[in-house]
Amino acid sequence: MLAQASVDSLFARSVLTWYDRFGRKLLPWQQDKTLYKVWLSEIMLQQTQVTTVIPYFERFIKTFPTIIALANSPLDEVLHLWTGLGYYARARNLHKTAQTIRDQYSGQFPTDFEQVLQLAGIGRSTAGAVLSSCLNAPYPILDGNVKRVLSRYFAVEGWTGEKIVENRLWQLSSQVTPTERVADFNQAMMDIGSMVCTRTNPKCNLCPVKIDCQANLMESWNRYPAKKPKKTLPERKSYFLILSDNGKVALEQRESKGIWGGLYCFPQFQTKDSLLIYLKKLGVQYYREGESFRHTFSHFHLDIYPIYAQLQPIHIKTQSTDWKIIKENLVEYESSVSSAVKYWYDLKNPDSIGLATPVKNLLIQFQREK
Ligand code: SF4
Repeated sequence: MLAQASVDSLFARSVLTWYDRFGRKLLPWQQDKTLYKVWLSEIMLQQTQVTTVIPYFERFIKTFPTIIALANSPLDEVLHLWTGLGYYARARNLHKTAQTIRDQYSGQFPTDFEQVLQLAGIGRSTAGAVLSSCLNAPYPILDGNVKRVLSRYFAVEGWTGEKIVENRLWQLSSQVTPTERVADFNQAMMDIGSMVCTRTNPKCNLCPVKIDCQANLMESWNRYPAKKPKKTLPERKSYFLILSDNGKVALEQRESKGIWGGLYCFPQFQTKDSLLIYLKKLGVQYYREGESFRHTFSHFHLDIYPIYAQLQPIHIKTQSTDWKIIKENLVEYESSVSSAVKYWYDLKNPDSIGLATPVKNLLIQFQREK
């Protein structure tokens, strides 16, 4: 669906006039704009705020100034630069797409909408955002910010994750997007969503479309968009083994798919006993329990129990120590260590690898305590 509105329609005019005065024009990906920079920023901005993205974007562009440079780099390095940004499938798709562009398009980002849509990790809104931003191509967008503005402006009922609601919003987005100045209009809609029509306490008095916004007229912005139906997330447990040896810590690389795909993590066990049995087999006598904490993914809670141990023998001096002895009567062996790549991570000279956020935090804490 293409943009349909005239640039002189009331909605487009109000939004563009606001953009000329208040819209963001100095973001790093807006300077010397290229399809590569805009694509990279769009991927990073999914589920993530502009202020968080800026330093990541700058480091990325410095390390990988071109699509070819990104395509030719090892995935580990890409994941390393992505560490902390979350939703790692984005980084894996970015790398894959860079390789597709290198191999199929001679390193040039395609400009045909259907070809862009075929690339890994690029949906309709991202394809539209990239092509409209760089080429003023008449594609509407529908990211989270735009969904919120349109749901409120048109008082669209229902949760935006439902197909029928999403289709309606796409229709409305095409209806209000002008066929000219598309880049400015789309940027303005994203800016209004993040700066004015905020999730809570929208600043309607500063909004360029307040005169005929249904939610504003009915003073009912908190009804739109409808909240995602509540679902209780399942809970899982994992025992993280933080096994050290002369300043190095054992890590293993996870499979490339799924949670923390391709990232390095501590060996994980479903039960404390299976972890202790594993240690016992290694000849380790003592362990120490760290404080447990919860890491929440979009579809489950993971309760993490860190357990510290070291390969080289330790001498326990007092009764008050945190170190506990591994009991003899552990018989079952149930290690869930399945990774093909096991690795000693050097705390003093760390390699450029991707680390899951809780792993990174535990390593920092561990180093501090040492
Ligand atoms: S008037 Fe208020 S609710 Fe309506 S779009 Fe503007 S900020 Fe959002």
